[in-house]
Amino acid sequence: MVDMRFLLAAICAAGLAGLGGCKSSKEEQPLAAPRLRRLNVVLVTLDTLRADRLGCYGYKKIETPNLDRFAAEGALFENATAQTPLTPPSHASMFTGQYPNVHKIRNTGGFVLQSSSTTMAEILQEQGWDTAAFIGASVLKKLFGFNQGFAVYDDQMPKPDDRMTREYPERSAAQVVDRALAWLDTQSGKPFFLWVHVFDPHAPYEPPAPFRQKYAGRPYDGEVAYMDRELGRLFAGIDRKSPPDQTLIAVLSDHGESLGEHGEHTHGVFLYESTIRIAFLLKGPGVPVGLRLTEQARTIDLLPTVLNLLGGRASREVQGSSLVPAFAGKPVSTEHSYAETLYPKMNMGWTELRSMRTNRWKYIRAPRPELYDLARDSAERANVVAQFPDEVKKLEDQLRKVAAAGGGVSEKVETSLADKKTLDELRSLGYLSGHAGREFDLTGEGIDPKDRVGILKLIHVAVGSESGLPPARRIELLRQGVAEDPTNPSLYYHLGGELEKVGRYPEAVKLYQSALSKGVVSGRLYSRIADLYLREGKKDEAIIHYEKAAQFNPSDYESQSNLATAYLEQGRVADAERIFRWIIAAGEEYAPAYNGLGLVSIQRRDLPTAKVNFERAVHLDPDLVEAHLNLGLIYRMTGDIPRARSSFQAFLAKAARSQYGHIIPQVREELAALQ
Ligand SMILES: [Zn+2]
Repeated sequence: MVDMRFLLAAICAAGLAGLGGCKSSKEEQPLAAPRLRRLNVVLVTLDTLRADRLGCYGYKKIETPNLDRFAAEGALFENATAQTPLTPPSHASMFTGQYPNVHKIRNTGGFVLQSSSTTMAEILQEQGWDTAAFIGASVLKKLFGFNQGFAVYDDQMPKPDDRMTREYPERSAAQVVDRALAWLDTQSGKPFFLWVHVFDPHAPYEPPAPFRQKYAGRPYDGEVAYMDRELGRLFAGIDRKSPPDQTLIAVLSDHGESLGEHGEHTHGVFLYESTIRIAFLLKGPGVPVGLRLTEQARTIDLLPTVLNLLGGRASREVQGSSLVPAFAGKPVSTEHSYAETLYPKMNMGWTELRSMRTNRWKYIRAPRPELYDLARDSAERANVVAQFPDEVKKLEDQLRKVAAAGGGVSEKVETSLADKKTLDELRSLGYLSGHAGREFDLTGEGIDPKDRVGILKLIHVAVGSESGLPPARRIELLRQGVAEDPTNPSLYYHLGGELEKVGRYPEAVKLYQSALSKGVVSGRLYSRIADLYLREGKKDEAIIHYEKAAQFNPSDYESQSNLATAYLEQGRVADAERIFRWIIAAGEEYAPAYNGLGLVSIQRRDLPTAKVNFERAVHLDPDLVEAHLNLGLIYRMTGDIPRARSSFQAFLAKAARSQYGHIIPQVREELAALQ
């Protein structure tokens, strides 16, 4: 937060530095692919969609006419599986054709797709395709590296209204489809690759009218039906732009949703069919009409299949296989599907899970291993691991083979904070020092997640999207959870969030510190402590904790920006500038960072640069009231009275009294003096 007195004092300071920009430039990789058939390619990913909630997959209690028609006009894979129940790793598998232990995106957050990976978008862009992506949730923002190969990467999300309880900022399918259709309208001639990601079936389930009423009591189904309606608009728009014989479209879910099965409510902890089975539809030249296939189809098979349909071939790095031979009844080598989740390990302090699935069996490697006969028990109710030791051995052997490609069943995993190349560049420019990824030891041993379904239930009851409990009861439940499972990071986040919501800040700080003392360490804990210290005016303590948060998680731009602002207020201008520049250099168009750079420029008496930065900040985020105020002051100083007036008016229109009560009267006076 910027104090008016501080700003006015800063304007009287001296100095000017040359400011060099830094953009990470991607190393061009030669892609030795043959020239591809110039079809338009569209990938639609449906987040958190259970295949068995679509009409075309046999669900009778829903209307999904658009996807049903799509399936009737193309091919539907009845046994399609994801390689992980987590959004970013699953998308990375679709784009690279690799298992998560090979492409190295292992969880939601904390991992960045490296520029050394080759994605579908890069392959097509390299061969002259125009590429664009429209993203439905912040978990796939460009800072995670999914933008490689995309000329347009539209990932601007609404701001989270509440930092302490934020989950994932998202935007509706209607918004995503509108943006994609607008982009399609600008296309003329060149073949295009369009990726549309819709997030609506992800919790919280809040379908808009009329779906809310129509699916009363079944809000998840309501979200799916709503999504289908929006996809209808998308498909119609694609049809208008690109005739069917010129258009290849793939529709896949990234994973499913448990909806209470096996004691899980959402997804991420387990590897059961509820979350691993996905919808997988294809349509276009080379794809038979109305074909339903029973061969296992995996997310890693998408890239080789698309390349095959375009007349190309996947490189050796790709682990998936083309599904095209199956269209002619020929065998495909997709019999074994590996899946993993590190979410229980990294988010809950339990053991990671790995599995190997065939159409007949699923083997789950856990502290207490599981085997299910999917042919007879598709709901995975009876663990038959003791009855079929030969099957277990065969599947364990297969699992070891896949695991070996990534580092083995016992494996050390380090979170990746940014693209390695970007990190090196930033380090060489002095923008970065002392950053340390977190290391996780995957041993397959520890707390078995299935022994902790009580904790999953407790979290669901306390803070699930349908929880109607009063805050005091939520806090009581979560305290009980922390006592039962004291090394579970997510319990501390939930409990701390509840305490903060009701203003019990000292208790929250104490809780976060107790987590650190129990060995639960994360950037998020440090940033929460730092925010709370800042709120109390304890700047030195805040700085120490922000520095720790930044070390663990440099892509937490909000903490970084708060740290830089605190530096600035202590006169550490160079330190502040280094961080603001890092945020922008890392690829994030983050309005507070431009506002901060404006303040740095003012410290250096470089008003033209300050003006440019404040203008950029206001352009990126018209709600950033501080930037309006700063801009108003600059305009006034440079004699641009009309603009000064409108900036002060913008500030006064949006500034919250609770936050800016002490400044508002001064700004009113400034404005009056300008009339
Ligand atoms: Zn997802």
